[in-house]
Amino acid sequence: MNEPISISTWSFGIIAARAVVKAFREGKSVLDAVIAGAQAVEDDPSVTSVGYGGLGNSIGTVSLDAAVMDGKTLDCGAVAGVENIRHVASLAKLVAEKTPHILLVGKGAEWFALQNGYPLQTLLTPETVALWEKNAHQMKVAEPWTHDTVTVLGRDAQGNLAGACTTSGLSYKLPGRVGDSPIIGSGLYVDNEAGAAGATGVGEEIIRIVGAQFMVEQMRQGKTAQEACELAAKRHHITAKRRGKTPVSVAFIAIDREGSVGAAVTTHSAQFQYAVTRGEQIEMFQGKVVIEG
Ligand code: ASP
Repeated sequence: MNEPISISTWSFGIIAARAVVKAFREGKSVLDAVIAGAQAVEDDPSVTSVGYGGLGNSIGTVSLDAAVMDGKTLDCGAVAGVENIRHVASLAKLVAEKTPHILLVGKGAEWFALQNGYPLQTLLTPETVALWEKNAHQMKVAEPWTHDTVTVLGRDAQGNLAGACTTSGLSYKLPGRVGDSPIIGSGLYVDNEAGAAGATGVGEEIIRIVGAQFMVEQMRQGKTAQEACELAAKRHHITAKRRGKTPVSVAFIAIDREGSVGAAVTTHSAQFQYAVTRGEQIEMFQGKVVIEG
């Protein structure tokens, strides 16, 4: 298989998919292609869980998390709890490129963005302010109302893998709460020698099973991308049962070394869709529902 491929989470994955196809057409690297996909969703105010137009936390502040990883070099970067900066996926790449660190948070990440020429911008729109206010009275802190990360995984014609994820996390989350997305190994992990994996859904449960790293290690041992995703979904069910908790909605995506894609989700209610690109072709799929471990 020597055409570039990608997989992006949720119905808005189509927005990412179009940008990924364009980026590959322009000869961008697989890492830059997946970041272009993530950024297209960050820029779309109709997506209320990513970037500009994301919903606020319990005090109405939009706080973004993002990560990127290059499967060839294992270079990775992430930012968490970032306010007033829109393009946090590309900022995560700059952390990997320009610092000896992997994760910058809050004010430090914002300072780093300003030093690198990122504009300070409000991430609120009139629509999200109205939506936040309309539902705020019925929200209890830390009971998520909406969420959904765009996670984009790609493979170029040479078999190099990369991934990017970006999110405003759980709406009405506690100030300071960070999800799985910027935690390398939980929301994202990529290794050319094994596979690429990412996650979306209730981040606490993804962190608990170190979801993306778990899937990549399954692929390293020879499992296909689809098998790895289903095993991660089962892992969530096993963990929830052991803890006496009701399973929550978590979805997993992956690409294996052979270029097969996989996806699985833990509940029917999540209605998990994803976009796949192969060369110039874009197709939407429904994730396989795995309801027990
Ligand atoms: N995983 C994200 C978080 O917990 C939210 C999501 O993808 O639905 O912040």
